[in-house]
Amino acid sequence: MSNALVTEKKLSNFINGEWVSAQQDHFAPVVNPANGEKLIDVPLSSQEDVNQAVEAAKKAQKEWALVPAPQRAEVLYRVGYIMKERKEHLSQILTMENGKVIEEARGEVQEGIDMAFYMAGEGRRLFGHTTPAELKDKFAMSQRAPVGVVGIITPWNFPIAIATWKSFPAIVAGNAVIWKPATETPMMAYEMAKIFVEAGLPNGVVNVVFGSGSEVGDAMVEHSDIRVISFTGSNETGRTIAGKCGQLLKKVSLEMGGKNAVIVMDDANLDLAVQGIIWSAYGTSGQRCTACSRVIVHESVKEQLEERLLAEIDHLTIGDGLDEQNKVGPIINEAGLRKIEKYVQIGQEEGARLLAGGNALNEGDLNKGYYFAPTLFTDVKPDMRIAKEEIFGPVLSIIPVKDLDEAIEVNNDVAFGLSSSIFTQDINKVFKAQRDLDTGIVYVNAGTTGAEIHLPFGGTKGTGNGHRDSGQAALDVFTEWKAVYVDFSGKLQRAQIDVE
Ligand code: NAD
Repeated sequence: MSNALVTEKKLSNFINGEWVSAQQDHFAPVVNPANGEKLIDVPLSSQEDVNQAVEAAKKAQKEWALVPAPQRAEVLYRVGYIMKERKEHLSQILTMENGKVIEEARGEVQEGIDMAFYMAGEGRRLFGHTTPAELKDKFAMSQRAPVGVVGIITPWNFPIAIATWKSFPAIVAGNAVIWKPATETPMMAYEMAKIFVEAGLPNGVVNVVFGSGSEVGDAMVEHSDIRVISFTGSNETGRTIAGKCGQLLKKVSLEMGGKNAVIVMDDANLDLAVQGIIWSAYGTSGQRCTACSRVIVHESVKEQLEERLLAEIDHLTIGDGLDEQNKVGPIINEAGLRKIEKYVQIGQEEGARLLAGGNALNEGDLNKGYYFAPTLFTDVKPDMRIAKEEIFGPVLSIIPVKDLDEAIEVNNDVAFGLSSSIFTQDINKVFKAQRDLDTGIVYVNAGTTGAEIHLPFGGTKGTGNGHRDSGQAALDVFTEWKAVYVDFSGKLQRAQIDVE
């Protein structure tokens, strides 16, 4: 497969249904991490471009909010069908710009398709509540109202799924969207904008402004007419955004990093546990927010587990994700590679024992891209930095424990709270773990990754700020609750006062 899939040389912003050049003539190259080839140039837009997009969005939103929700949903159904028809095309471009292996890219595109149909269904729900009023001849209800113009800021590691988790609920609820994708992976946004046009979304309801976080992202956060920021990315960025939104009293939804663990108890089906761990730790080269980077294992099965993991690691084929044979693709860029190397060094200095990997891969064609060997550390102590900090690469740490209580304690004793998993055959342990694991997602006898779009997605503690993407919970980010009272008594009835 070649660059033939990418026919443009330079991307433009998508504002008010048109492709518009950015105000300043600055571009950054988008590079295929599998082979270092340049795919396209992405504009580095400025505050003026954001302002232009917001003006278009404000105008469009007023009319879009008045379109009955079932009709708004019709557009999302069409988006879903077009994505379905174009699934292979989208998946291949996704692999080229992000590096994840094609099977995973197809899975990610499927997540977007699922989200389109799920949120389209909301067009005929968007439920509010009716409730009895406390006074006679009075009616009370609450309903969801759109917020207005919303900003979504997305990372490179799931460039299409996360954008659909955010934009589809925003659209069906009657908002207009300004979307800033990561500069590493802009082509998914370009493809989605084309799909929105074909699906008949009115001009200005979704606008894409390409550019850096510090310029375009910041301009969105600061813009007084963007009433919500929905962000997914690193903690460092999330914290900066949250601080600014706090000052501006702007609603902000943050989905950030993880330090996810698989717990393996002494009664676990070890073969199954190994499969779940390998998939969660080394899939997407460990660059998932839900990646497993810790295995908390009962000491009595530690050695057996290590042996089986090492055997499986040996079978992982590494290379360009467009080759169906490969199971592990590249790291997103040079900086990502260097960060992983740094953590391996930290782990060794801290006294963890390296069982596999630990180095960048440069042999043959791998030399052209950014590859890192699947890495396994053992005898890791819970307080080591490699057991506490997000590495975002294929680096897994084995931490031995003596029982379930200690496993849960170790799992919870990190700054993040996204995903956790337990392998056990004991129903009592299952129920204790699902109650006591302090993460937004818990898996039983499965790895730490594999969320379904109709359930809420997000985490506790440093992973987020209490909001969720996906599922019904996503609607809470993009709607305001409006309480409506209708008094049909014909007289002034004062709440709390004129009650008998
Ligand atoms: P990042 O924080 O570097 O960038 C994310 C987005 O924010 C990009 O579009 C970037 O341009 C923008 N940005 C950067 N600085 C900004 C600023 N000052 N103001 C506004 N926007 C700004 O993150 P990344 O490296 O692209 O993504 C990896 C991170 O995302 C990891 O920490 C991963 O765990 C996290 N992530 C979390 C989830 C989740 O749902 N919890 C899902 C996927 C990824």
